[in-house]
Amino acid sequence: HVTYPSPEGATPAMAQWFALKAENPDALLFFRMGDFYELFFGDAQSAATALDISLTTRGTHAGAPIPMCGVPVAAAPAYLARLIRRGFRVAIAEQTATPESRKGGPKGPLPRAIVRLVTPGTLTEDDLLDASRQNLLLALASTGKRSAVRIGAAWIDISTGLFELASVSPMALPDLLARLDPAEILGDPALVTGEYVSRLAPTIAPPAPASARSILSRNLGVAQLDAIGDFPDEQCVAGALAVEYIRRTQAGRLPRLARPAQVETGAVLGLDPATRASLELLRARDGTTEHTLVSAIDRTLTAAGGRLLGLWLASPSTDLSLIIARQDAWSWLVTRTELADPLGRALRSAPDLARALGRLSAGRGQPRDLASVRDALTCADVIAGLLAGAGSAQGPRLIADAEQNLANRVPDLHAALNAALADDLPARVEDGGLIATGYSAELDRARSLRDDSRRVVAELQVRLQAELGLNSLKIRHHAQLGYVVEVPAAMGASLRDRPGLLFRQGTTSVARFSTEELASLDRAILDAGERALVLERQIFASLAEDTLASAALPEIAELFAFLDVVRGAAQLAQGGDWCRPEMRDDTAFTLRAMRHPVVEAALTGDARFVPNDCVLAPDARVMLLTGPNMAGKSTFLRQNAIAVVLAQAGLPLPARSGVIGIVDRLFSRVGAADDLARGRSTFMVEMTETAAILNQAGPRSLVVVDEIGRGTATLDGLAIAWATLEAVHSDLGSRCIFATHFHELTDLADTLPRLAPFTMAVREWRGDVVFQHEVRRGSAKRSWGVHVARLAGVPEVVVRRAAKLLGALEADHARARAPLPLFDAGQAAAPEPHDAPNAHSALHEAVANLDPDAMTPRAALDAIYALRKLA
Ligand code: ADP
Repeated sequence: HVTYPSPEGATPAMAQWFALKAENPDALLFFRMGDFYELFFGDAQSAATALDISLTTRGTHAGAPIPMCGVPVAAAPAYLARLIRRGFRVAIAEQTATPESRKGGPKGPLPRAIVRLVTPGTLTEDDLLDASRQNLLLALASTGKRSAVRIGAAWIDISTGLFELASVSPMALPDLLARLDPAEILGDPALVTGEYVSRLAPTIAPPAPASARSILSRNLGVAQLDAIGDFPDEQCVAGALAVEYIRRTQAGRLPRLARPAQVETGAVLGLDPATRASLELLRARDGTTEHTLVSAIDRTLTAAGGRLLGLWLASPSTDLSLIIARQDAWSWLVTRTELADPLGRALRSAPDLARALGRLSAGRGQPRDLASVRDALTCADVIAGLLAGAGSAQGPRLIADAEQNLANRVPDLHAALNAALADDLPARVEDGGLIATGYSAELDRARSLRDDSRRVVAELQVRLQAELGLNSLKIRHHAQLGYVVEVPAAMGASLRDRPGLLFRQGTTSVARFSTEELASLDRAILDAGERALVLERQIFASLAEDTLASAALPEIAELFAFLDVVRGAAQLAQGGDWCRPEMRDDTAFTLRAMRHPVVEAALTGDARFVPNDCVLAPDARVMLLTGPNMAGKSTFLRQNAIAVVLAQAGLPLPARSGVIGIVDRLFSRVGAADDLARGRSTFMVEMTETAAILNQAGPRSLVVVDEIGRGTATLDGLAIAWATLEAVHSDLGSRCIFATHFHELTDLADTLPRLAPFTMAVREWRGDVVFQHEVRRGSAKRSWGVHVARLAGVPEVVVRRAAKLLGALEADHARARAPLPLFDAGQAAAPEPHDAPNAHSALHEAVANLDPDAMTPRAALDAIYALRKLA
């Protein structure tokens, strides 16, 4: 636990520290002192531990040494990145005056002010950002009464200017959070649960709707908010929260934001957090990105393209025309093979324009950001030329638009940047030298004055050496004294009385003098140099301003990313192994020879992926899939869900062909993550997720579930699986693939007309089992668990014993298995006469009903407890 002493009795410098710390008590204070950011007291202790740097002390406060640590300013970004990743927020206090500028002014510590609050959701620096992902700040605000609560959501990526708003119901909030995966969240902590809690910023009181509206219109530079859209209260409050927070973190300056766009949540495929986790779209279950859908299909060449692809996968569309427009775009590129290479080269040379614009608009732009704008404009012209040359005007809409919006945009700015920027750019504006000679006559004059004076200094040195006969005489620039004549100490005495030479300083080795002429040259050089710097800064600021005023540049940034993504999609489709699915406004679902791109990519040696069809026709809408473990069930389930994500993102499918009627919500429950660590039993998790499906799926949804009911005793589990299957089939009317190890369910095909049983093909060969990874019509006759046990290395004696037991159990089971009286209350109440309900037969029946091959260890343990109770 970190504590801070009371500021009483602090030295002037520490008093300043306490005052700045009080402005942002939740943040570590980086207190600028010369070339270091210093941290004190509790901040120093936290940072030293987090950064693994040494903790020392400086001076005392209230009689105790002050803990201190520091990081060099030049290395600050790396340290900041580590602190932010560890959940810290950092306030940066800079000196607002230099010792020189205060010469003769007030005494005491230099004035300092917080110029920036660095928080996870408000970053713009490349060093702190992941180039492949967008970095969102999300604000949430709820309005309305208990029964009709609406949550307003506003999300902003200040590194690119993206600004979007939506309203959702409390039930839909988890979907939105999972989709956006924000870096930082503002708003009522009660709205947020789970992993998102750690991303909450300190609470700020939300403004009232009326003042929220005026905050927004003021910040967006419009007189009336209505002029740019019809935003409900909850969105305005959320938007105002976000905008004000950003302003605070940027020390009062709001970076350029796009006009807020209202997002219709229904326009996006519904994917709840469990589904996202199950499909491993952008992140695998273990949090890594290696075996994810995005990594398997990513053929983009630029960071911006990678970000956009991630966005498409995170929020597939339900808008048929948008999906088809994207398909048209990459299909057109597939037919223009000659375009692939030059377009790829041009895109690769394109700078990350969106992020350069972000830095410029946050007031942290540097010369290279303007160079990025210049290069982007050059690149835009090149790409427009390539597209036009390939006949884009007659091409699909998105391609023709791209060409139009890239060609010759903001030519004046482009020309100005071309002329203004020097060939060798300094890292920082303050270093000077970023503006090329010939761009500004005034700047050139100041520079030549400065350089001429330098030459005069050099000449003066030669002259004085000759005059005084002292070859060891040098003219040097000295930090405090300016230009001085420097001679070895031994010669110093002889020059002391020399007219025109003014003794300034003597050390053991040298004596320093100044002259009238030197002093005026010194002033001239300083003035001219400073004048040049001021002029360069002005030119930079005006070019940056013109850049930010242009609406074309953010569009160009988006088009680069778009073309990169569709070029990558075309590359996938070009090989012939990926197809363009036919998208329809109905409930069709036919995939031919579909593959799982991630599993396929992970196959090694000469293993080949076995493609499978999946047809969910109106008269066979529910596929009931049985088959042993390891036979490829989960892979099959997931690949069909992934097909929907890819197709509705507008991307190609790893299949021979596909016809998909737009899905409104996709539910995938395959290989549920073990939630035991979070204190909920597997079964509870399973049932919560089943409940979510039953409450939300509809006739346009696709439900893909694996092994519902496995987390509890067999009879319980079977009953729940049975009832769920009936509900999906008869009430929800969703398209569904239902995998189960309850072979009993296959009998339901006789009573449920749209249920079609399928099974994973297995071949037995010399007593061994061979999985063919092939989905066939029919149902599994056995579960092959004993064989899997052998494959897994269970000792042969145990396997043989199990096989024997299985035979006996199956025989028993067959005898005991009357039609299951599960859903017929009458039958259940009146047990059959030959099966009196005594303890022995109950125990017997329970044992007979066990399906050891299909049980998880957890289920087995539950079963043992249940048997104990019966005994
Ligand atoms: P299950 O869910 O039936 O236990 P999985 O789907 O996890 O089985 O598949 C087990 C392994 O089999 C996978 O890791 C993969 O290597 C392989 N596999 C699955 N499906 C296929 C397929 N269609 N073609 C080739 N190999 C496959």
